[in-house]
Amino acid sequence: MSQKIIIVGAGPAGLFAALELTKDADHPEVTIIEQGPSLESRPRTETMIGVGGSGTFSDGKLHFTPVLSHEKLFDLYSLEEYQTFLDYSEKLFLDYGVTAPNTPENLAEADEIVEQCHQQGIKLYIRRCRHVGSDMLPGVVKNMVDELEKRGVKFICQTKIDQIVAKYKKIISIKSGNQNFTADSFLIAPGRIGAIWFQNQAKILGLNYKYQEVEIGVRVEFPATVMEKHSKIMHENIYSIQTPTFGDTVRTFCPCPNGFVAIENYQDFLCVNGHSNTNTFSSNSNFNFTVPVTLTEPTGNTSVYAANIAKLTNLLGDNKPLLQRLGDLKSGHRSTWEKINNNLFKPTLTNVTPGDISLALPHRLVTDIIEGLDILNRVLPGINSDSTLLYAPEVKLRGNRVTINRQLQTEIPNLFVAGDGVGASGNIVGAAISGIMAARGMII
Ligand SMILES: Cc1cc2nc3c(=O)[nH]c(=O)nc-3n(C[C@H](O)[C@H](O)[C@H](O)COP(=O)(O)OP(=O)(O)OC[C@H]3O[C@@H](n4cnc5c(N)ncnc54)[C@H](O)[C@@H]3O)c2cc1C
Repeated sequence: MSQKIIIVGAGPAGLFAALELTKDADHPEVTIIEQGPSLESRPRTETMIGVGGSGTFSDGKLHFTPVLSHEKLFDLYSLEEYQTFLDYSEKLFLDYGVTAPNTPENLAEADEIVEQCHQQGIKLYIRRCRHVGSDMLPGVVKNMVDELEKRGVKFICQTKIDQIVAKYKKIISIKSGNQNFTADSFLIAPGRIGAIWFQNQAKILGLNYKYQEVEIGVRVEFPATVMEKHSKIMHENIYSIQTPTFGDTVRTFCPCPNGFVAIENYQDFLCVNGHSNTNTFSSNSNFNFTVPVTLTEPTGNTSVYAANIAKLTNLLGDNKPLLQRLGDLKSGHRSTWEKINNNLFKPTLTNVTPGDISLALPHRLVTDIIEGLDILNRVLPGINSDSTLLYAPEVKLRGNRVTINRQLQTEIPNLFVAGDGVGASGNIVGAAISGIMAARGMII
């Protein structure tokens, strides 16, 4: 009888695990359980749940250089080993329809900008990146799902797993209400939306885990011309700044040139994110501007801390993200629709409440954001203008990391984990790779 495997979560981690598990003819029997809808019935506004996970309508920047957000597994794999997984996953992305070119194409031009940034006290990271675009990514996900279905993988959608049941250090089943699912091995890949759920399950199962860093801040929107010179050379540019007052690091992430600000719905709170297309553009650009936060005693629980900040921000915004002009934040005034309507440029996300971000985010983080934008203005003139728009909360929850080995196997031998929700990755490619690693460990 063939081995039976259940994967929870149909994001990049779950899908790539399934592709790896079924690549040979005599593959195990694989079922994917997903709390959200199938790809066809998934509304465009559902950014976090459904087949494809939060990858489906994302900006689709695929990073193939092992710096920054791939660092989650660097304690288990060397850079060289990790690069082989990056190369392997890149080939799969190409096989399933990614045609976007690599950037930066001209490394000398990119190096010149890096040098200019360094001269201004800013560290600029460059990662090799293919930008698929939110309009093209669902097609790539569809190609993967079609192939998996052809191989006999079963998708069970609209089914939220609420309990992982163990007996004598073995997972017996997983449960959704009174539905019971059994298998030989289980892969839990719940993404950021399932991070706190998995943390609670890990506690019940008696798994050891470490709290991870979270990132908290705002999404910054500005006229596309402000970053155009840099983003024409490299789609993915990450500026890192040390702030004078607190000595914190504040970083840009996920730049979306000519893009749109989007809502990230975590079900019990809302955050913001960004995306951009390959074929349709806005006249604004945006990026995430966040501060990494770790906590120690008496609580290290960064996920719950970040979720509470997001909830407080939602409270002030009446269940919508807050929007504030930078000039209003600096002068201590809330923004209003009148001020936003008279702003130099219009916001791309309007399902928001104009307000005062300084009432929601801790003083330290607000100071970091204001100082960081002031410094960034040295290389992106115009970013620090009063009309720059700030959306909050932008929170990057990371799942807390349970103890795992190189195959992402937990202390319970038939329980494997992958993706952002378990602290094994921080982006699409990282999640995909962690799924592949787990899959290789699961095949008996
Ligand atoms: C708007 C937006 C833009 C982004 N842009 C980029 C980008 O350009 N580049 C990049 O690399 N990353 C980007 N990201 C982040 C990227 O999408 C994630 O890093 C990646 O999708 C993580 O993959 P994952 O498989 O770990 O989790 P996810 O993609 O989040 O998938 C997890 C899945 O598990 C399901 N699930 C969770 N709990 C349960 C449960 N209990 N029962 C059943 N199902 C469950 C969820 O519904 C979800 O579908 C973006 C994200 C968003 C929201």
